[in-house]
Amino acid sequence: MAPEVLPGPSTSKPDTDSVGSSSCSLQGHRPRAEEGHWALAGDFLWDGSSEEASPRQCVIVRGQRIVRVCSVQEAVDLDLPVEHYPGCTVMPGLIDAHVHMEFSEHFPLHQQPEFTAMQLREAMAERALRMLRSGITTARDLGGRNYAAIGLRNAIRRGECLGPRLLCAGQPLTRPGGHCHQWGGEAGSLDEALAVVDRQVENGVDWIKVMATGGMRTPGTNVEEATISVRDLTEVVGRARENSLAVAAHAHGAQGVVHAVQAGCRTVEHCSWIAKAGQWGCVDDSTVEAMARQGTAVAPTAHANWRYKPMGERNYTRMCAALQKLRAAGVLLLASSDAGAIPGLPHDALHGGIEVLAEMARMTPVEALKAATSVPAAVLGLEAECGRLAPDLSADILVVAGIPTEDLGALGRPVLVVAGGRRVQPLAPPPPWPKVARPSRPRARQTGALNARGPRRMA
Ligand SMILES: [Zn+2]
Repeated sequence: MAPEVLPGPSTSKPDTDSVGSSSCSLQGHRPRAEEGHWALAGDFLWDGSSEEASPRQCVIVRGQRIVRVCSVQEAVDLDLPVEHYPGCTVMPGLIDAHVHMEFSEHFPLHQQPEFTAMQLREAMAERALRMLRSGITTARDLGGRNYAAIGLRNAIRRGECLGPRLLCAGQPLTRPGGHCHQWGGEAGSLDEALAVVDRQVENGVDWIKVMATGGMRTPGTNVEEATISVRDLTEVVGRARENSLAVAAHAHGAQGVVHAVQAGCRTVEHCSWIAKAGQWGCVDDSTVEAMARQGTAVAPTAHANWRYKPMGERNYTRMCAALQKLRAAGVLLLASSDAGAIPGLPHDALHGGIEVLAEMARMTPVEALKAATSVPAAVLGLEAECGRLAPDLSADILVVAGIPTEDLGALGRPVLVVAGGRRVQPLAPPPPWPKVARPSRPRARQTGALNARGPRRMA
């Protein structure tokens, strides 16, 4: 949909990138001559950290950065062009805290086809573009084979392709024959483990990933078994810290979670607490207390397809209880999909996973939105760069049809994505919204101006 822009001088109308444009820059701040100074408004604005969405607010953007959030009237008084999307909410772009850019959802994790470097680059660029068009403006890549995700990260930074800002972990450290040993990060001793960390640093990673237990998708590994000692993991965390890096620990088994927390890992991935012959949710209460105290965050990879309960009814219920316990204790939960490792789960399905996470952990919509914006930004060390609509942050903005602070389903209706100040067309035209209630129904909600879908000029 083409927005109408009024009032303000036509010379300051923002430039619009068509999808597939070869120019974007999400990381560096590179001033451009044609950079616009403009404002973006919906009927509501949610800034990423407030407890509710506010009406009649807009975000002012200059070039790649947010200048401020203020009333629409203030922007009009400044003679800025204001794009208004009736029926929509303006919010920060989404963050997926756990993806694998290198891998396709069309194949099992360890049966991915052998692509040429060029084919792999093209496939990854296509995934990155789809993610961005769905509203994901930042993602953390937790591992692959050949540092291919780092190449993609750099290409996006250089503006050679459009995609989310990426943080990459390179090859996960794992024991010989351990989870994802096929990717090259095997180590049979502490010295070898530290050498794997050093190699990741040399290849320019942003995070260190450690497999602290076996994994579901690597035959011959045991998800319940802790595969690295607290002592060795503590050394690995120390080596990462010397290089200003944090550690993400893959841990399905309860003992592996305990080791990861005791060793000082910054995030625990999956955190399924599996023990006692495959039973999920065997939570260790003192470890949960330690996580809350230390600020250890959890990326539970509760993805959109978990609505079908692939772990079985009983374990699903136990995992719900575990997530509710973590939430109640104040442990930070991160929206995270594990896209790339999950057959049948596309990289652009984070919005569905946010709904699943909210339901499982009994989060309010606002809590769930924070888990996909300001909270992961802080945990990933990007709080001064993204995750909120605030002065000086990157202009990573998502406009959705509806009010996500009341209905998370709105996240599936992107109307506009702005990444580092650049406008990107959303993945698909949003479906009709809201459903028209029959007037005879007593519970029909007054939606007022929210019924209109197209952008319109400000009065
Ligand atoms: Zn993963």
